[in-house]
Amino acid sequence: MGRNILRIYYRLPVFCQNIAISCYGLMIYIGRYTGVYHRYLKLFSRNKHRKLEKELRIQNKRFLRLLHYAARKSPFYREYYRDIPIQKIKSVGDINRLPVLSKDILKENINRIYTISKGGSLHFSTGGTGGIPLVVRKRPRDVQQRMAYLDAYKLNFGFRNNKMRSARFFGKKIVEEDPKRPIFWRTNYPLRQRLYSTYHLTEKNLPYYIRDLNHYKPQAIDGFVSAIYTIAKYMEENHIAPTFTPKAVFTTSETVLPYHRETIEKVFCCPLSDQYASNEGAPFIIQCSKGSYHEAIDTGIFEHIQTENGIKLLVTGFDTFGTPLIRYDIGDIVLLEEGMTCSCGSIHPVIKGIAGREAEYLETGKGRFSQVQLSVLISQLSGMVEQLQFRQKKDGSLEILCILSEPLKKEMNEKIIKSIMERFLGSKTAFKLCFTDTIERAPSGKYQLIVKE
Ligand SMILES: [Zn+2]
Repeated sequence: MGRNILRIYYRLPVFCQNIAISCYGLMIYIGRYTGVYHRYLKLFSRNKHRKLEKELRIQNKRFLRLLHYAARKSPFYREYYRDIPIQKIKSVGDINRLPVLSKDILKENINRIYTISKGGSLHFSTGGTGGIPLVVRKRPRDVQQRMAYLDAYKLNFGFRNNKMRSARFFGKKIVEEDPKRPIFWRTNYPLRQRLYSTYHLTEKNLPYYIRDLNHYKPQAIDGFVSAIYTIAKYMEENHIAPTFTPKAVFTTSETVLPYHRETIEKVFCCPLSDQYASNEGAPFIIQCSKGSYHEAIDTGIFEHIQTENGIKLLVTGFDTFGTPLIRYDIGDIVLLEEGMTCSCGSIHPVIKGIAGREAEYLETGKGRFSQVQLSVLISQLSGMVEQLQFRQKKDGSLEILCILSEPLKKEMNEKIIKSIMERFLGSKTAFKLCFTDTIERAPSGKYQLIVKE
């Protein structure tokens, strides 16, 4: 939404804001959940991905279709693949004959990568790194197919999207900064979604959120794990039980750490399922009901490239006809474990997890630390520390922002916290510990454990 529209929106009473959100939601609904959506939802919910040959056949077919389409329709790819005998590429196995598409190349050439006009497409903007968000164009039918895939996955957990109530915690600024009344959510009536603001989750406001969740009784909770965790943890610490049991908690966009999962599943008495995707249109990595991360090879191609920072992911997304992504270096690191299979019956390859963005590593005197490794430190500090953020300055120095669980006990806990950190980060790592009561989120609304300046 534009800034002017937002200014008008914030002036409206809550009731009218709900209507505005519902109208906006309906517009989105018409773009994404009509057309081929229902046909694909049926098709996808029948396929349990049990036969390897069938999945590979689908993958090959969809890859070749995308490749030929891009080489024909996209001025950029026509030139990029000029010296490559496209006809010789017969299957996914030949993909490494094609050059890799880096983020910079994508950004610089975006206008020549598009295969469709602005008017006939749906737009998705992605990560505003460097200030300028990248706008990706998609064909409506590709978006509808993508939504159907996602909804078929949620159906496996017994949740019908748009038919059952869901509580959503994403980065949209739907509530003004200082609302007069403690109403931190807006409702999209036709889609049966209540959108909760992730910008007002303070100790003072949390009781209102919890009271409303208990009143609304969502059948699923969707969104950023950091936000859902904040609520779950508060409920756990204050012995508040939910009056509802969701089918599942669906998280996306942030790395799910072991302590997140443990608390959320315990408090809401339901499974947490994480899903990896990106607005650019990366294929899905989906956590099944048994808890394994599966690469959905019928939605794209995943290549694992060994680098000094870990295993880098190259993706090819089968619903990117509007802005083709072929061998796209999305900047994420995955964790593999050879020979893993899953008892859910799906033959889609299992990976151990997504370690996050390449940039999300902390440089210390003891080497590099990933978010997953830092989560060990966080669990050692539980009870004393509410939230942490590691900020790596340009000169390499380290600043740790810390929100205390009990600010009144600062004197008492400061020494203990410092010594636990020193032991964990090693004596060669110099850091500055700063106590604060709020930690700012990224412009997207995501919480960042590691920030590099
Ligand atoms: Zn599985």
